[in-house]
Amino acid sequence: MPTESLYPPIEIPDVDIWAFLFERNDKPYPDDKAIYIDPFTSRTYTFADVKSTAIDFGKGLKALWDWQKGDVLALFTPNCIDTPAITWGCHWAGGILSPANPGYTAEELAFQLKDSGAKALVTQLALIATAKKAASIAGIPHDRIIVMGDERDKEARVKHFSSIRNTSGTSRYRRTKLDPAEDLAFLVYSSGTTGHPKGVMLTHRNIVANVLQGMSGEANLLKWDNGPDKSGDRIIAFLPFFHIYGLTCLIHHSLRAGLALYVLPKFSLDAFCDIIQTYRVTFAYVVPPVVLLLAKHPDVSKYDLSSIRMLNSGAAPLTKDLVETLHSRLNLKVKQGYGLSETSPTTHMQPWSDWDKTIGSVGRLLPNLTAKYVSEAGEELPAGQTGELWVKGPNIFKGYLNNPERTADSLTPDGYFKTGDVGYQDENGNFYITDRVKELIKYKGFQVPPAELEGLLVGHPLVDDVAVIGIYDEGRATEVPRAYVVASKATEPVGEKHSNEIAEWLATKVAGHKRLRGGVRFVEEIPKSVSGKILRRVLKARAEEE
Ligand code: AMP
Repeated sequence: MPTESLYPPIEIPDVDIWAFLFERNDKPYPDDKAIYIDPFTSRTYTFADVKSTAIDFGKGLKALWDWQKGDVLALFTPNCIDTPAITWGCHWAGGILSPANPGYTAEELAFQLKDSGAKALVTQLALIATAKKAASIAGIPHDRIIVMGDERDKEARVKHFSSIRNTSGTSRYRRTKLDPAEDLAFLVYSSGTTGHPKGVMLTHRNIVANVLQGMSGEANLLKWDNGPDKSGDRIIAFLPFFHIYGLTCLIHHSLRAGLALYVLPKFSLDAFCDIIQTYRVTFAYVVPPVVLLLAKHPDVSKYDLSSIRMLNSGAAPLTKDLVETLHSRLNLKVKQGYGLSETSPTTHMQPWSDWDKTIGSVGRLLPNLTAKYVSEAGEELPAGQTGELWVKGPNIFKGYLNNPERTADSLTPDGYFKTGDVGYQDENGNFYITDRVKELIKYKGFQVPPAELEGLLVGHPLVDDVAVIGIYDEGRATEVPRAYVVASKATEPVGEKHSNEIAEWLATKVAGHKRLRGGVRFVEEIPKSVSGKILRRVLKARAEEE
């Protein structure tokens, strides 16, 4: 029997993201509340600023490039307080936003631009060289690149997004009507259970549903609305907005709830602690390596982090040990959430109450979700037994872009999504993740698709065959990718020098998070099944022995 959420079902309104955020009568905060704050420049957006900037930008897209429903706008930037207005301006004009990792090489970005069919690209001046190279590879004219952020092109060769307004001066542009359940809001990239990154098609309804699922009952951030100035939580936002965790939980959830976000372009421990202390930040979404730093790094003692009332960790496994170490060191509680790009993302959330009794769990199924546990043989198991988690609900994606085969592999005809994660639930409905049946590796919460690295590595002259697996590095509280390589016959004998050469060669071709931090090991052969599939479990067992 499938397991239903223990929470009562909630109503999901049939509205798109724009209407959900900007056309509501029950907004529990004033229009002039600063919602997005850049703590380094003190630049802010109030709710009213976000709305008017988004409308201006949406009109600009229509005026300048005849923006049509379903056109894709790619975003290639570190976190910036301009991101939300650009995102919703794109939606206002009927577009789909496809955010990319700002650490990508030009080739990695070009893949996403081409695959998503992007019509234009927004970036920052510091990334313009990579953006231009990628646009050239993808066939996007350079005048379709615009910049955001504080830095502008002094010679005005590249337009700033704020100058892209309704250039025709007419008032004929209207918000594009959308079908929330059918029309896409985002194309985020995930490798899913296997292979290369794919465009995960998220509809407006997926996002609206997940924000409301995350705001209901015990998962609700708004539960606490009596901060010192009655203004609700103040949240530090360093998790990338291009990844679904930051995209939904930070940008969408916070605006709906009217919570202030202190936005960091990237993580540094000092900036993180300093901003929490200075602004009396009350809530932070984190990933396990950040929990590790807070639990163990000596510099943390220099700061007063007592304003934090809860941390939420997701995107990768967090050990019970680390949660307890952090709690005993700083009296800080960290709860967990679980989800995937394909589930918009959150499916499970550890409740606020019973925190101490559920440490190690990723929490309970959010409302409107049903789960199944399935054995390797494909049989449904009773809840309580360990199996692959399948989930069904309004936040489940529509499929992989232009990839009916992978879509059919991951979505069942009756609407269940196969997560590729393995676990069980206890008698109180708390879910525990114990393993992964998919090949995905996660470095500090970032996806590292082994197939992508393997595809590149076979292009190295020393490599005849290769398999990449994730090994857990306790010192960094994250998995790291390791390559097992069969050396080409011409090069005997191989040693450390060659391992380093291969790792360094790969590092020039991929974003920083995909580097072979777990090293390169030479082997006689790659274990494979009769059908030629890499037996990653055999390599994992070998890595554990090593
Ligand atoms: P992504 O699509 O990048 O969000 O990656 C989703 C994957 O991250 C899941 O399938 C899990 O393998 C992993 N993940 C997310 N949250 C957790 C968590 N709390 N504990 C363990 N693994 C997690």
